[in-house]
Amino acid sequence: MTARGDERDRLAEEVRRLREGLEADLEAGIAWIPWEGKRPKERLAARTSVAAQLAAPENRESVPIVPPGGASPAATEASPSGPMASPSVPMAASPVPGAFLSRPARERALLAVAAEVAACTRCGLWEGRTNTVPGEGDPAAAVMFVGEGPGEQEDLSGRPFVGRAGQLLRTLIREELGLDPAQVFIANIVKCRPPGNRAPQPDETAACLPYLRRQVAAVRPRVIVTLGNPSTQALLQTTQGITKMRGRPVERGGFLFFPTFHPSYLLRNQAAIPDGRADFRAVRALLAPPPGGG
Ligand code: URA
Ligand code: SF4
Repeated sequence: MTARGDERDRLAEEVRRLREGLEADLEAGIAWIPWEGKRPKERLAARTSVAAQLAAPENRESVPIVPPGGASPAATEASPSGPMASPSVPMAASPVPGAFLSRPARERALLAVAAEVAACTRCGLWEGRTNTVPGEGDPAAAVMFVGEGPGEQEDLSGRPFVGRAGQLLRTLIREELGLDPAQVFIANIVKCRPPGNRAPQPDETAACLPYLRRQVAAVRPRVIVTLGNPSTQALLQTTQGITKMRGRPVERGGFLFFPTFHPSYLLRNQAAIPDGRADFRAVRALLAPPPGGG
């Protein structure tokens, strides 16, 4: 075999091992909370200690995986090597170490999160819920939207952003982002409805965020769009208001965040709609390959 062939085989083997490690992490429910910016050594230590925990007999119980409403048809297709898998990922894209995770592994990790959420009582919000709303969309989406929490319609249906704000969100995704809403992933920082649509409280957000982190680790979106103040402030750990933060990408721990107005705000403040639309076009531009590049 040629030296080049050897090199290719060595690389293929390395990719295979990395991929197996990541898939094992995902299935164990581990996400190395990307935006906390852990360094590789610490990640490795975390993985080893979790592996040890899992090996302990008292932790061998398996997590039931219940598909809520069944798997999406796209989930059965082979993973396309979309722009995420390309070695010439444009500047703006996140350096996605999980870009080569298989679609079935992502899907399994997301179903495991949804199953745990369905049984969750980690914060007081579980008491008022009709349904949990874990989030939904393409397991390999390039863009993930993160709202605040389910409202009445979402609580009744178990699906995110199905009310009036959701209709506007989906319109902006189609018209300005140029994607079908089924091509993105839509989630919230809390998965159960806060009473009277109040904003989630810090203890509720803290209790629920690990689920979102696992969803992010599974999907590995190139851009995470935070919708409104609670989402932006929780994910970017800032007290700055959305009016200051919106419209500009922020890089954290290898992920690209893009804060924008919450669609409910746009419904109440129609004058802000042009800025909201411009933000969605800016996200579209982040996804586009650089001119002459690629
Ligand atoms: N508002 C949100 O923040 N999330 C939803 O899912 C619906 C409305
Ligand atoms: Fe659990 Fe999140 Fe629901 Fe609280 S909001 S009960 S943490 S799923």
